[in-house]
Amino acid sequence: MFKFSKRVPADGTDAVGAILKAAADPKIISFAGGLPAPELFPVEGMKKATDKVYAEHGQQALQYGAAKGVTELRELILKRVKEKENVDAKLENVMVTTGSEQAIDLVGKAFVNPGDTVLVEEPTYLCALDVFRSYGANFVSVPMDEDGMKMDALEEALKAHPETALVYTVPNFQNPTGRTMPAERRKKFAELAAKYDVPVLEDNPYGDIRFAGEHVPSVKSFDHAGKVFYMSTFSKILAPGFRLGWLVADPKVIEKLTVLKQSADLHTDNLVQYVVTEFFKENDVDAHVKEISDLYGKRKQLMIDGIKKYFPKDVKYTDPEGGMFLWVEVPGVTDTVELFKQCLEHNVAFVPGDPFFAGKPQPGTFRLNYSNMQEDQIEVGLKRLGEALSQALEA
Ligand code: PMP
Repeated sequence: MFKFSKRVPADGTDAVGAILKAAADPKIISFAGGLPAPELFPVEGMKKATDKVYAEHGQQALQYGAAKGVTELRELILKRVKEKENVDAKLENVMVTTGSEQAIDLVGKAFVNPGDTVLVEEPTYLCALDVFRSYGANFVSVPMDEDGMKMDALEEALKAHPETALVYTVPNFQNPTGRTMPAERRKKFAELAAKYDVPVLEDNPYGDIRFAGEHVPSVKSFDHAGKVFYMSTFSKILAPGFRLGWLVADPKVIEKLTVLKQSADLHTDNLVQYVVTEFFKENDVDAHVKEISDLYGKRKQLMIDGIKKYFPKDVKYTDPEGGMFLWVEVPGVTDTVELFKQCLEHNVAFVPGDPFFAGKPQPGTFRLNYSNMQEDQIEVGLKRLGEALSQALEA
């Protein structure tokens, strides 16, 4: 009845939506979600900051604003990326986005024509795949190991695909694997971007949520050629609901993306930009982030303990030093969706690995979320999962 454009996914392609729906039954312990812990959202602090913004510059906050974002917030972002990521940038390098998801969308819109090659990690963040797919990307997956995307494989892919329009990476506590790329590899990454003259989108929503190990500098901090676009978000360190993210890139890129952003939403919610700026003035955000990291670290450890106790012995899993997810590989499984169904019968759920792969999925893989799971549920859920996996492997 309607003739949708080619950008609209065909019916039945929302595999994850279907999974989350199936896992929503209250008797199911679901590790399928991807949400931060709401009990740590700074509700009171945001309320106070909102009151102050209304009292001090309510009219300005409710007026239309600039597409690049509120200057005070952009300055705050610059200070933060300098301190946290060793990225030297000026005001002209930064734009505020409506969630960092919008940064992915704008970069996809600006750099990917139908049929263009986009290099992605194997596996990678599935909503980024959806974005690039909507612009007609031809994906080439670059293999990973425990240290993230492999640089020899990336160089091979860049040689084989000189037409590459974009490389997308999540170097910290990657969604879905939880893997982190060491500094040496990041340096090499920036060198390859310069050598092959290809833009890299570095997506870092989880980097601040570190509960073990040492901070690793961003790929962008090694980028002297201006090829790396760095993006992050307030979603994981404060809250996702107010949709505030940012992008740091070459001013020429920011100019073009600003034009595209104007067509998308004119600008990001002005009030929220003022409120978050005010929130930073009044609160110790680093202490708050430490509290989040401590909680997630505790939950991750409970998950690892449960895996060790209940999973069949040859199941492999990652043990992340931060972020919200870990990744499981069950050898011998050929149909992950079938495995998912068997686990649902045991009242436990996860996200099957398939939609995280741009190409052929690796069977028997799945993602577990620990950030939004009460401690007493973690062990119960893993016991169920262990029983379901054992049964599936015996069958
Ligand atoms: N990138 C990655 C890797 C993510 O996991 C997410 C959130 N799930 C986002 C980007 C988008 O986050 P937001 O739009 O809330 O900033």
